[in-house]
Amino acid sequence: MVQSMSAPGRFLEDVLRRCGLIDGYAVVQSPIGAVYAAMGERGITAVMEASSETEFEGRYRERFGRRVERRDQLSAELQNAMQRGSRAKVDLSECNPFQRAVLEATRRIRPGTVRPYAWIAREIGHPGAVRAVGTALAKNPVPLIVPCHRVVRSDGETGEYALGADDKVRILEHEGVHVPELRRRVTMHEFWSPEGDDTFCYPFCFSEPQLHGRHFRKFQTPQEAVRLGLTPCETCHPPLAA
Ligand SMILES: [Zn+2]
Repeated sequence: MVQSMSAPGRFLEDVLRRCGLIDGYAVVQSPIGAVYAAMGERGITAVMEASSETEFEGRYRERFGRRVERRDQLSAELQNAMQRGSRAKVDLSECNPFQRAVLEATRRIRPGTVRPYAWIAREIGHPGAVRAVGTALAKNPVPLIVPCHRVVRSDGETGEYALGADDKVRILEHEGVHVPELRRRVTMHEFWSPEGDDTFCYPFCFSEPQLHGRHFRKFQTPQEAVRLGLTPCETCHPPLAA
């Protein structure tokens, strides 16, 4: 009797799984310790901290409206995605178009470098929406993979983080960012061009190793750089005129 009751239940579970209505998760290692990572048919859906599997499963269902189950066979794939970071395939279908634009711009920030919230706002064509950028990043479903920890406040403070403000500093340090130096460079109102290069950048475009032993020409306004025939860097997109 028990058999005949549970067989249709298992069948239903299989159908739900095949239709992508039950996602899978595993516990993976990150620079801030073990975290829960989940994936569905279209890629990584979530990275979260939780005190137990039950808590994670409950929060997941509440947020995404789908069930998630532990699948240890996903461990290697999810761990690999953590290593690949922003190159891993993510499923951002739960996000609205504004959030997606914010997360896609964030994805392009290279390890060891940071951007102010205001930079993201300009980059996505909504220069006045700095606060909304902060909100979108705080709701990033896949922190560590879409590197929202690389977005900081314009006053140089590291600011809020989806996984906790202290962890943000720890992850940045793990990526080789010298946080006091970063604070200084984010607040500079000047533009830098590596000597011998024909482009100019925001000072926060460079990682610590890129700064090492290099000399820069420095400008108070982008116009000064443009007058010398320099073009805006294609990574940090400084303006042509301030
Ligand atoms: Zn640049």
